[in-house]
Amino acid sequence: MNRRSTEILPDDVVLESYVAIIDLREGDSPTHTIAGSVRIDRLDLGRMENLAPSPDAPILLYCGIGEASRVAVRSLTERGYTGFVSLLGGFRRWRSEDRPTVAADDATPDRYDRHVRLVGFGQEGQDRIRSASVLVLGAGGLGSPVIQYLAAAGVGTIAVVDGDTVDSTNLQRQVLFDESAIGANKVDAALESVRSLNSGVNVVPIATWLDSANAKHLFDGHDLIVDASDNYASRLAVNDAAAALGIPFIHGAAIRWEGLVAGFDPRVGPCYRCLFPDLPETEMTCSDVGVLGAVTGVIGSLMAVEAIKHIIDSPDRLIDRLITYDARSARFDSLKIRTSDSCPMGHESGSR
Ligand SMILES: [Zn+2]
Repeated sequence: MNRRSTEILPDDVVLESYVAIIDLREGDSPTHTIAGSVRIDRLDLGRMENLAPSPDAPILLYCGIGEASRVAVRSLTERGYTGFVSLLGGFRRWRSEDRPTVAADDATPDRYDRHVRLVGFGQEGQDRIRSASVLVLGAGGLGSPVIQYLAAAGVGTIAVVDGDTVDSTNLQRQVLFDESAIGANKVDAALESVRSLNSGVNVVPIATWLDSANAKHLFDGHDLIVDASDNYASRLAVNDAAAALGIPFIHGAAIRWEGLVAGFDPRVGPCYRCLFPDLPETEMTCSDVGVLGAVTGVIGSLMAVEAIKHIIDSPDRLIDRLITYDARSARFDSLKIRTSDSCPMGHESGSR
């Protein structure tokens, strides 16, 4: 293997050129890090791969002295991930050469204070949030608040899947974007937006459309899926891939003056097909009948709440209930979702 292709001198590092920077140092939380880096266990190659939107995406790995990162890069390269490089001399050399570092947790140790002091959350909850990897499908009206709140909460890795570009009709509700984003890929604009919100979060932009053929591959390795897509075909693809992989997912939808949110954990409860076994004959869209922008904000925010409850393993997380919201009557309802005997997913007996 060509040594120069897998290791890099501090002098040659351009931090902005990497889609992710990974800190493999072991032990207690370090006081200083390279800006924007995420800490991952040196053996957790799957989590490192998840940060790569494509196998050749450039990602910088560093450890204390450059040895563990060199070994990890070799393994990743053998697994087909050719964009990973190891920082020669590790953090020790980087720092001894007076290169830029930031205090761990962005020099704002109190950043998550309001989470940590929350009963039922605490430092343990915040640690779970930090090590979580969540895939958000759709960076639209629902995805915008989901991505914003997950990023603000400090979710370690947020993969965003959307094949669309920003247009002027989006700005009425897709609060992740501003006028300067018109014409840009939504996932790239989302990355820019999150970077200024929380530089400690790794966003993996995936500019593609999800379908039943690629869903399992995209979801594999994530802890949670948030389905903020806008059509039934995507929702069924999400359900089937999440069920096959045993990954919980949050579902949400909004149209006109109304919306709904539900959470599913196919390992223990009903699934989306228990509610909607198959594609409907007709499908209403927001581009036909409209949607109140703030309604997508309400539903997207509920989805973010439920996503966080799943990550911290809250005992009250949504796994078999559907919450509906009607903005005109200002009314919420909650319905129990039952596992359907005729569900095409064929749930095992004994599941709820
Ligand atoms: Zn089902």
